[in-house]
Amino acid sequence: MFPNQFEYQRPDSVQAAAGLLAADPDAKLLAGGHSLIPAMKLRLASPSSLVDLGGIEGLVGIDAAGTIAIGAMTTYAMLRDSRELSRVLPMVTDAADNVGDPAVQARGTLGGALAHSDPAADFTAIFLALNGSVDVTGTNGTRTIGADDLFVDLFTTALQPDEIITSVSFPAPDSGTGMAYEKFRHPASGYAVVGVAAVVTTGSDGNVASARIAITGAPSKATRASESEQLLQGKKLNDESIAAAAAAAANGLDINGDHFASEEYRRHLVGVLTGRALTRAAAGM
Ligand SMILES: Cc1cc2nc3c(=O)[nH]c(=O)nc-3n(C[C@H](O)[C@H](O)[C@H](O)COP(=O)(O)OP(=O)(O)OC[C@H]3O[C@@H](n4cnc5c(N)ncnc54)[C@H](O)[C@@H]3O)c2cc1C
Repeated sequence: MFPNQFEYQRPDSVQAAAGLLAADPDAKLLAGGHSLIPAMKLRLASPSSLVDLGGIEGLVGIDAAGTIAIGAMTTYAMLRDSRELSRVLPMVTDAADNVGDPAVQARGTLGGALAHSDPAADFTAIFLALNGSVDVTGTNGTRTIGADDLFVDLFTTALQPDEIITSVSFPAPDSGTGMAYEKFRHPASGYAVVGVAAVVTTGSDGNVASARIAITGAPSKATRASESEQLLQGKKLNDESIAAAAAAAANGLDINGDHFASEEYRRHLVGVLTGRALTRAAAGM
């Protein structure tokens, strides 16, 4: 199907893009287009105007010295191929390598993935587990939104209609940190039927000092497995504590069922993948 007719605009600054969004509530930002364009072709989205971020300088790049800062228009392929990122945040490069296919990796952007808040996206869970934040600019100025506040619901974030994600930041991991992302891929698209990102830090006593576990694919938005995180706190990360955390991972989650996978099957996958992610995180410390 063809999309409805739309205007196309290519501003050269973030402020100009925010102004275009503020002037037309039916305008939409265009980043990699790999979620928006398919939705337009299916007429699930019919924006009056596309505001292309591709002409704005300064939105692409990775700085991994200290706090890790990544431009919103940085593609999965750039994440996948970054050697400095693979050293500090190996979960990010691994996951980027497993998004969709090479065409999706070449066009899809980190900012677009977070702004879209697709319930089956990979990087929503990774962002949440790594306790990231986004810098956003709108017509009222700039602000920072933390990981726990960004995702509101299915395809809904805390962004105002005229706000643009300009960069994504992650704290540099403390020593003694291990991280892993495990997903059960949809065989056709690669989207997460269920995905689990785990980031665990042990203190000098060898006990878990902090654990963040985030689930995607199962609930309507990326969600932390809070009960599992609490179970791990202060414990040794071993087979026994991992099994207990995995068994509790789906507790309190409102899990979707659809024609890809039933609610019961997704609940099962949440436990299995939490166990695998924690086991790999422990091995990577
Ligand atoms: C065949 C196929 C397979 C895929 N497989 C996977 C997969 O395995 N895992 C996965 O996670 N995803 C997958 N995707 C989705 C892909 O990752 C998308 O590219 C991504 O989710 C959105 O990024 P984008 O840059 O393409 O955003 P766009 O499609 O351009 O935009 C998406 C939405 O975000 C808004 N937006 C974009 N950038 C910004 C910004 N900087 N600030 C504010 N709002 C913004 C847009 O207005 C739009 O509403 C797949 C897509 C396809 C077509």
